[in-house]
Amino acid sequence: HSRTEIHNFAAGPSPLPTSVLEEAARGLLNYGNTGMGVCELSHRGKEFKGIIEGAEGESVGVSHSTRREANLRKLLNIPSSYAVLFAQGGGTTQFSSVVLNVLAARRLQHRSDSEYTPPVLDYVVTGSWSSKAYSEAQPATTKPSSFTTLPKRDEYSFTKDAGLVYYCENETINGIEFPLDQSSPYAFPFDLVPENVPLVADYSSSFLSRPIPNLERHAIIYAGAQKNLGPSGVTVVIVRKDLLVDTAEAMKLGGVPVVPIQNEYKILADNGSLYNTPPTFPIYVSALVLEHLLSRGGLDGLRDINGEKARLLYETLDAAERDGKVRCVVREKEARSWMNVTFETVGEGKEKAFLDGAEARGFRQLKGHRSVGGIRASLYNAVTIDSVRALCEWIKAF
Ligand code: PLP
Repeated sequence: HSRTEIHNFAAGPSPLPTSVLEEAARGLLNYGNTGMGVCELSHRGKEFKGIIEGAEGESVGVSHSTRREANLRKLLNIPSSYAVLFAQGGGTTQFSSVVLNVLAARRLQHRSDSEYTPPVLDYVVTGSWSSKAYSEAQPATTKPSSFTTLPKRDEYSFTKDAGLVYYCENETINGIEFPLDQSSPYAFPFDLVPENVPLVADYSSSFLSRPIPNLERHAIIYAGAQKNLGPSGVTVVIVRKDLLVDTAEAMKLGGVPVVPIQNEYKILADNGSLYNTPPTFPIYVSALVLEHLLSRGGLDGLRDINGEKARLLYETLDAAERDGKVRCVVREKEARSWMNVTFETVGEGKEKAFLDGAEARGFRQLKGHRSVGGIRASLYNAVTIDSVRALCEWIKAF
């Protein structure tokens, strides 16, 4: 098959723009006419520094012309009070990194407190990923839940002096996302989070799909690259600079967990994300994707097209549901994800028939996550509206 014959609805790693992959393929063989492939360049050489600085958008102290103008700061309008880091270990490593850095920063704020007690951590658990993050931070397991909607404003109660408030903007497995419309009763209640409490968001599966509401209300926003940004292996961490703290100093005071060096944000920030050998190829491809997104009009354009893709597919599914053929997993419409559309077929043997028919028509990677089953169509940036229309036609025909 050629790429053009296939509609790839993968949940991640996900499809990337073909033009970007073509350029990446050239760079893999011969980057910028150096006679060396991008994976063969030193991460401390001027070529790679040009790539990473161009992606990040703030000089790390090397002066030379950067080839890449595209950058995250421009796309997301990130103020200089935040560091932008390229970390390793995936989104999963951030489950602990966010907690370790926040707790160390808090300990340093309470330096002279001889009876220091660690704070309560508030987690908004809306699906599989926030459950995992919660279980990693607290010695408890969360109640299993079917996660078919979001809480409403009056269901939240945040701890006044919590160590952090954590939420996952888009639950990739369940297909639940906080609505962009801030007037929705299901919108994340930013105004209810106590002002001094660091707000942390996992944006892994909705990063760069549309603007981030209230970016400056957050202390940390992180996202694994492998949905809308690039290949797996790099995780973007946008962190407010007051959280770049010397964790060794906090550990000396006691009352905080041990922080492995790979988890400390300050080390990464002080070294321009080059403390140790970074995943150079994923960073390179991510830099190309950022340039591509900027040249295509940035996040407002993506919001419009991604909103339309989701609207088309849910409308088709709702009609098929009325005909008794399928059932959307997320019952509350305003809590439905734009990126991961989850549904089930109705009737014995129907799921296999749906997926087999889909496969024959060129649709790929539509099977739901192994933990929940069903069907999941992921509509990341590189999935075209034509692919979505084609899928809608198959649902109607089914
Ligand atoms: N958070 C979300 C929302 C995810 O979708 C994923 C993975 O798909 C993760 C965290 C875990 O990321 P990783 O697999 O990079 O560790």
